[in-house]
Amino acid sequence: MQSRFVRAEAEAMVARYGEAGVPRDLALRVYTTRLLGADPRLVLHGGGNTSVKTRMPDLLGREVDVLCVKGSGADMAIIEPTGLPAVRLTELRLLRTRDALSDEEMVRVQRANLIDPMAPNPSVETLLHAFMPHKFVDHTHATAILSLIDQPDGEARAVELYDGRMGIVPYIMPGFALAKRAADIYEANSAAVGLILHKHGIFTFGESAQAAYERMIEMVSLAEARLRRGRRAAFATAPLPQAVMSLADAAPIARGACALKDPSGAHRRLILEFRSGKAILNFVNGAQVKRYATAGVVTPDHTIRTKNWPLVLEAPQEGRAAEFAVSAAAAATSFMENYRRYFARHNARCGGAKKMLDPLPRVVLVPGLGLFGLGRSKKEARIAADLAETAVETITDAEAIGRFESISEADMFDCEYWSLEQAKLGAAKELPLAGQIAVITGAAGAIGFAAAEAFAGAGAEVALLDVDEAGARAVAKAVGGAALAARCDVTDAASVRAAFAAVAAVFGGVDILVSNAGAAWQGRIGEVDEAILHRSFDLNFYGHQRVAQASVRIMLAQGTGGCLLFNTSKQAINPGPNFGPYGLPKAATLFLARQYALDHGADGIRANAVNADRIRSGLLTDAMIAERAKARGLSGAEYMSGNLLGREVTAEDVAQAFLAQALALKTTADVMTVDGGNIAAALR
Ligand SMILES: [Zn+2]
Repeated sequence: MQSRFVRAEAEAMVARYGEAGVPRDLALRVYTTRLLGADPRLVLHGGGNTSVKTRMPDLLGREVDVLCVKGSGADMAIIEPTGLPAVRLTELRLLRTRDALSDEEMVRVQRANLIDPMAPNPSVETLLHAFMPHKFVDHTHATAILSLIDQPDGEARAVELYDGRMGIVPYIMPGFALAKRAADIYEANSAAVGLILHKHGIFTFGESAQAAYERMIEMVSLAEARLRRGRRAAFATAPLPQAVMSLADAAPIARGACALKDPSGAHRRLILEFRSGKAILNFVNGAQVKRYATAGVVTPDHTIRTKNWPLVLEAPQEGRAAEFAVSAAAAATSFMENYRRYFARHNARCGGAKKMLDPLPRVVLVPGLGLFGLGRSKKEARIAADLAETAVETITDAEAIGRFESISEADMFDCEYWSLEQAKLGAAKELPLAGQIAVITGAAGAIGFAAAEAFAGAGAEVALLDVDEAGARAVAKAVGGAALAARCDVTDAASVRAAFAAVAAVFGGVDILVSNAGAAWQGRIGEVDEAILHRSFDLNFYGHQRVAQASVRIMLAQGTGGCLLFNTSKQAINPGPNFGPYGLPKAATLFLARQYALDHGADGIRANAVNADRIRSGLLTDAMIAERAKARGLSGAEYMSGNLLGREVTAEDVAQAFLAQALALKTTADVMTVDGGNIAAALR
């Protein structure tokens, strides 16, 4: 591992922040914190922390000694000076004389001594930073260090490698007790330039930002060199099926197994993020994968994101979907039973007041394929997958030089159910469609865009399909987050198959379909060319059927129900003159929704339709509006609001109707009219 410290870059950051009034010490602290944060071999996703001891004026203008320390949960890679709140150092150090201090009390004292009362909570490792005498203190969970010390004899290995240059601290959960013990160990050997925290990570010290940072690089490099010596061969591989199932086929089965049905029949689902590659396959294909993969977390920080152990599935064989579904469901059920027992066991030990988190796995290993990170959003799933990849690397290297060993189950529980760690995850109320995947066709159009915004706003991950791929991409960009855009021509069965395979591979499955792609053809029915009718049926009926069937195939593999939503039209109920070529397939599509409701209700799949009229869109352009208004002797606005309520109906109104149908869990075979009132088109 090479130092990435560049003096000119550091000085440029000092100059830039200096203009905003940020002192030099803090600007340099930001610079090297970002260097550490940018390397996933050192820290990931809010792990690790840094500090600098300096002087600054308090709110009354009096110069005081402060510790600027990373805020709890902040991401080091993108940290700003405000992400390192300043705490009064003298007061923090007074705590050293205490015999004990609860976590809640520690947070109160830290907050009470913030210079800026609006600043974020200082890191839970603040006191460890404060008790060290050095100006700059850096802390990471470096992968190479963890491979070295996550061993039954990890402390002895660290003593041997660092030869007195690093203090060795036994495993203690982060907080006051760890800070006190670390300070005692440092003071017993003040020649140490850092600390190894057994089964947790590494601290390095320095009088300058560069010195503390480069010591981190040096110590991690020594561990990396040690890992290259005396390695055993790679894991012995377990036998695998000749042909392994595709990711697109396996993902919905794995996802369905990792869902919870609540008493009302609703499902709690997770989003998937797939990872594979040589190192991951070597790990998941190992004959002993269950032993080393389920031995515990590589550093306590991970437990809240990945749980303590992954779910290990059997290798899925091509063409044997039913067997894989049975074995995956059995493995997931046993995982959840184990989790509930683990919770009950340790909750009893802790007084019985803890509230159980959901028992679903957050990492799933699939021999022959790779691994999945799981989360209530794509973002969470990616974090779990990143941490899982780090665990693969750490455990692989630990096993190459010895035997991987984690902290005890009780220690892991204490971290997973630690009030301060729980606070990091945020107590924000979840959106109603969190954990669900919505596919929207015709996504580049006005209603598609409005539906994408409505479903993403309700917490779903959205997959945006359109024959106009650039248009779908533009909508995905506008929606933001993890929105997926893919080309899909709903009149082409192969294109539909490819698009749904892409959605299953990216998110793990499909829960909601908004079948919206369509186009209008006209012609007097007694004279119209049959080719026009065929074209319209291909798009306005078969297009809906193809995407609905592709969705149902995935929904059945998941076994967690689903919701099909069809955009029909006023024409399906109340034909307009010369609109037969459009209205006929739309009427068939209205019937299609009812047929799906009937045939797949027992599978928990609902099917509903929205009957909308006069929406400004690609089907009803401003030019068409002007033409029709003129023919009726009306203005454009009068034409658009020519309904019982006298108000124009928008694409957003249609999107809200789809969303309402998706959220109405006991509603199927429903047709919702969104037309401002047109009594001739009212259903009877
Ligand atoms: Zn740590």
